[in-house]
Amino acid sequence: MATLKDVLNQNVHVAAPQLCERLDGNRLRCYACGHQCPIPEGQAGVCKVRYNQNGELFVPWGYVGGVQCDPVEKKPFFHAYPGALAYSFGMLGCDLHCGYCQNWVTSQALRDPRAVSSAQRIVPEAMIGEAVELGARIVVSTYNEPLITAEWAVEIFKAAKAAGLLTGFVSNGNGTPQVLEFLRPWVDLYKVDLKSFDQGHYHQLGGRLQPVLDTIRRLHEMDFWLEIVTLLIPGFNDSTEELQRMAAFLAGVSPDLPWHVTAFHADYKMTETPDTTPEMLLRAAEIGKSEGLRFVYAGNLPGQVGDLENTFCSGCGELLIERWGYYIRAYRITAEGCCPKCVAAVPGRWAKRFEGQIAHLPFLPDRSYR
Ligand code: SF4
Repeated sequence: MATLKDVLNQNVHVAAPQLCERLDGNRLRCYACGHQCPIPEGQAGVCKVRYNQNGELFVPWGYVGGVQCDPVEKKPFFHAYPGALAYSFGMLGCDLHCGYCQNWVTSQALRDPRAVSSAQRIVPEAMIGEAVELGARIVVSTYNEPLITAEWAVEIFKAAKAAGLLTGFVSNGNGTPQVLEFLRPWVDLYKVDLKSFDQGHYHQLGGRLQPVLDTIRRLHEMDFWLEIVTLLIPGFNDSTEELQRMAAFLAGVSPDLPWHVTAFHADYKMTETPDTTPEMLLRAAEIGKSEGLRFVYAGNLPGQVGDLENTFCSGCGELLIERWGYYIRAYRITAEGCCPKCVAAVPGRWAKRFEGQIAHLPFLPDRSYR
């Protein structure tokens, strides 16, 4: 019987030339993520999905691990087209191996024998046709790390753009200048999961802090719409000192960067750690504000975090968007993207008018792609 690796190796394409460099001895340097693996002939990179065969870099193509329709608030983007439906696809594999991953069944599919996943062959036109039919405004590569399948995401996003849709990445931010240049024409929204501000912690997850920080700076400079999420894990990344340094860094990039601190619950290999409480989120959010961030949100505990699910004008304090979880209760931003009271511009990407929500909870499309 064919293994998942066999199946994936039948669904490949040659890497984009911008994301591959020839080294000596038939090795290839991959630039799709911050590992920048030098890959010897016959071997795969750290992610296990990009590999060197006969001196060519082969990369995933022509499949998805799954599709789901999410409110854009779930990604989370709070300053980008509130209420829009985000047609979201995931692939298999990851460049990191976080012990608390909530999507480990797909992200660790090639590393962990317990992660049993399958690949569904698909063409971009079928996906985008379904996205349009369902009323989605945004197509998002998410659930696993999209950087490692950047070429395939761009192929899907080309079809999305042709249909007038917006696009987004939900990523760990372990990028390179090369991959960001490659993505820039095709990606509108970018969420980075900043997991810690400590190199030792990143090492435990299989990555490095510096490429993530460099990517956050570049994404902002390159005018992607950027939001940052930190899953607050008790005892891992929640010390006052670490949160202060993290928030100060983000405020230094831009005080207008939305920062979402979200609640952890036990998952995968991290089952002994207690869940994040509302009080822990409130404390982290307070640190974010005191370091100068203007838009700080607390997530995953709807109705338990005071007004930290809502958006307020940073100029006059007017309530602009009222939320409960992913549900938009009230929307008051003007057609020009401004506060209705003081007319200050609200940072973000706004539709001319709020058109309601097709769904405020995730749902699966009612037919498969098999
Ligand atoms: S995507 Fe990252 S982990 Fe995978 S081969 Fe390229 S550089 Fe290595």
